[in-house]
Amino acid sequence: MAPARIPVAVLGATGLVGQRLVSLLADHPWFELAAVTGSPRSQGRRYGDVVRWRLPGDPPRAAAALVVQPSEPGLPGRLAFSALPSEIAGEIELSFAGAGYAVSSNARNHRMDEDVPLILAETNAEHLALIETQRRNRGWDRGLIVTNSNCTSMPLAMALKPLDDAFGVEKVFVVSLQALSGAGYPGVASLDALDNVVPYIGGEEPKLEIEPRKMLGRLDERANTTRLAPFTISAQTNRVAIRDGHLLCVSVELQEKATPAQAAKVMRAFRGRPQELELPTAPPQPLIVRDESDRPQPYRDRDAGNGMSITVGRVRECPLFTLRFVALGHNTLRGAAGAALLNGELLKAEGYL
Ligand code: NAP
Repeated sequence: MAPARIPVAVLGATGLVGQRLVSLLADHPWFELAAVTGSPRSQGRRYGDVVRWRLPGDPPRAAAALVVQPSEPGLPGRLAFSALPSEIAGEIELSFAGAGYAVSSNARNHRMDEDVPLILAETNAEHLALIETQRRNRGWDRGLIVTNSNCTSMPLAMALKPLDDAFGVEKVFVVSLQALSGAGYPGVASLDALDNVVPYIGGEEPKLEIEPRKMLGRLDERANTTRLAPFTISAQTNRVAIRDGHLLCVSVELQEKATPAQAAKVMRAFRGRPQELELPTAPPQPLIVRDESDRPQPYRDRDAGNGMSITVGRVRECPLFTLRFVALGHNTLRGAAGAALLNGELLKAEGYL
């Protein structure tokens, strides 16, 4: 007989990231969706009746029958995936962790807290060791918070990790073309988006300039905090009329010179802890490197590895820095819901639940 699945909750389940989580959890081998929460607009009503489902098809039947609850401890299970808006996520996540839940969060509120791991499971699974410090600092015996990064930081960190390990990253210049779904629902007004590029996304550039440095940073000797990786990032972010998939044009200066072929080789060979542990949501190949001159493209490549792989292309020399390339990640899957789910799987596999 298969072991019983672990009951889990999704906080903010009616939003774009929440819907992805609900969809990914429908047939999950380890976790069973036992509770969904939403704003007062949705509470007390059936999920299937209140959700504005924006994924293909209909909401999974079991999820559709759940009654939307307030985001308060007392929900079944003790693992909660948070897809709450940042305006309210901070306090609610603390209340869940204080009540003994493991919280895997998409929200930005606690990402840069010294004792909170900012985890991209392939690059820095070992940062989970911060949880002991976190529990000590905050007086939690069982509860914890782990976060995943902003959806644009993630493909950058994933692509830089094997380059940093092999050659050392010195500095990075990145320009993003970001999908509309990155702004949540209903997001950018259609009259601002269609036939247009908006060269500003509030708060995005500072996140893109710091979060990859935390994910590629090292723990201090006592696992009390993370030392930021010592490279600099200059970011310019743009909103474009694409539904899903953030594309990044990256130039990188390396400490040790590398040819495009050497860079492509280490990226292709890259594997992390989720692949080693064979976690259910882990893509077999986290970084796919394409040789065609016109890839990656959002429409064609965002679903690679079930939306969990990053596709890199156009790896070539750069007249300013050592190398340049293009990287693409699915923002609501790998950049949000899929990353949070993978972090939940990592927590279970590493004995934190
Ligand atoms: P969204 O589409 O705006 O969804 C927000 C969700 O929060 C809805 O389910 C909404 O419920 C719920 N909510 C609002 N007020 C609430 C309250 N008082 N109590 C409980 N629930 C409440 O946003 P999203 O794009 O899914 O983003 C969710 C989080 O993930 C945000 O922190 C965002 O920054 C982060 N994130 C998003 C992406 C992305 O690509 N979209 C990527 C990375 C991280 P109702 O429907 O009932 O109003």
